[in-house]
Amino acid sequence: MLYSKLLLPTLKEAPQEAEIISHKLMLRAGMIRKVASGIYTWLPLGLRVLKKIENIVREEMDSSGAQEIFMPMVHPKELWEETKRWEKMGPELLRIKDRHERDFCLGPTHEEVITDIIRNNVKSYKELPLNLYQIQTKFRDEVRPRYGIMRGREFLMKDSYSFNIDEDSLQESYLTMRETYKKVLNRIGLKYKISAADSGAIGGDSSEEFHVLADNGEDTIAISDSSEFAINTDLLLKKDENINSLEGKPSPDGNGVIKIKKGIEVGHIFKLGKLYAESMKANVLNSDGKASTLFMGCYGIGISRLVAASIEQNFDEKGIIWPHNIAPFDINIISIGHHKDKKIASAATELYEQLTKMNYSVLLDDRKDGYGTKIKDSELIGIPLNIIIGKNYIENKEVELLARNGQSSKNAINDIKTILDFFKNQ
Ligand code: ATP
Ligand code: MG
Repeated sequence: MLYSKLLLPTLKEAPQEAEIISHKLMLRAGMIRKVASGIYTWLPLGLRVLKKIENIVREEMDSSGAQEIFMPMVHPKELWEETKRWEKMGPELLRIKDRHERDFCLGPTHEEVITDIIRNNVKSYKELPLNLYQIQTKFRDEVRPRYGIMRGREFLMKDSYSFNIDEDSLQESYLTMRETYKKVLNRIGLKYKISAADSGAIGGDSSEEFHVLADNGEDTIAISDSSEFAINTDLLLKKDENINSLEGKPSPDGNGVIKIKKGIEVGHIFKLGKLYAESMKANVLNSDGKASTLFMGCYGIGISRLVAASIEQNFDEKGIIWPHNIAPFDINIISIGHHKDKKIASAATELYEQLTKMNYSVLLDDRKDGYGTKIKDSELIGIPLNIIIGKNYIENKEVELLARNGQSSKNAINDIKTILDFFKNQ
């Protein structure tokens, strides 16, 4: 992609509306623009990151054996009345009427719609277990939309629902999803904790949250300094309201001492049990030929929130630092004097074509601006590797390599292998 053709409106200063670093940087890096409170347009650079995360999630979901579907965003009131959530959800559920005055809502989550599909289409335990997922826009009329797409009203979620004949099978599906979420976060390259959580409006028997650790996290989690133990302090307070600070105390699992950290909830997995299946009468025939209520699990991962969470964990005073696997571009070729010197322009173009053919996603900064502007923009948008073609190319046929983490090196322009080794070693 040529920089000069890209809609990439970077800003020197963050607009006043932005409070936290990820929101500021996403606006400054030209990734998103606000349309209304909690509602955003994703511009090309932002969308590239969103799609990369979406693809990682899709690949891991497919390899876990889950099947992709796509449900509607507009749901009829009748389905939500069956679970009594038309009332229970309160003002977070955005209600609308069609031209015939029929009531609908914008889907904040899809338990009702999916359970309706399953009760009408699955008849026997032999067809189970099933795990169905979608990657879709959700709408929640959040009481306090804030921090840009971190807590939006419209946001992108991967939600999935498992249907099981008994509790053991549910446990198996639940653990498979738990492992899948670990794989997703490891592939993206984020530091996270899995913590026991309050099940909130979704309900069910028990749930765990995946928290990306970051100072600006809205959640407070108590973690052991020497085991996997972690718990959302909201749940801890519910269990024992006398606890006022759970820092420095022995960990409830008997291992180590509790430390308090801030986390951003990026995923939430629930064992729902019979909660929705019972109220919606979702049964199948069991091995004795009798009607048996289904067990369900539901599993959500915030794809758009992950973009912001990744920035909260990886940035410096210059801008965003993307983990390589979700960077909008792998490499930025900064061509200095592109319009003045044909030799530079053709060397930069040749390198661009060569790397693109090798399946790297490459940006070629062909703008008329000087080095200062170009490197500042590149550091702001967080491209992992800059290849600078300028004076040194004319004098010594050399390019400069500058990684986003500050490491640099000089290299012969035609020695692609060494250039790529430098990139991979960052
Ligand atoms: P929160 O406590 O942050 O409101 P939640 O418990 O309501 O989250 P779930 O219903 O479990 O969230 O949704 C699954 C995932 O969807 C969350 O883990 C989060 O990553 C994402 N998510 C939820 N609400 C929002 C939102 N308003 N904006 C962006 N992402 C969201
Ligand atoms: Mg919520």
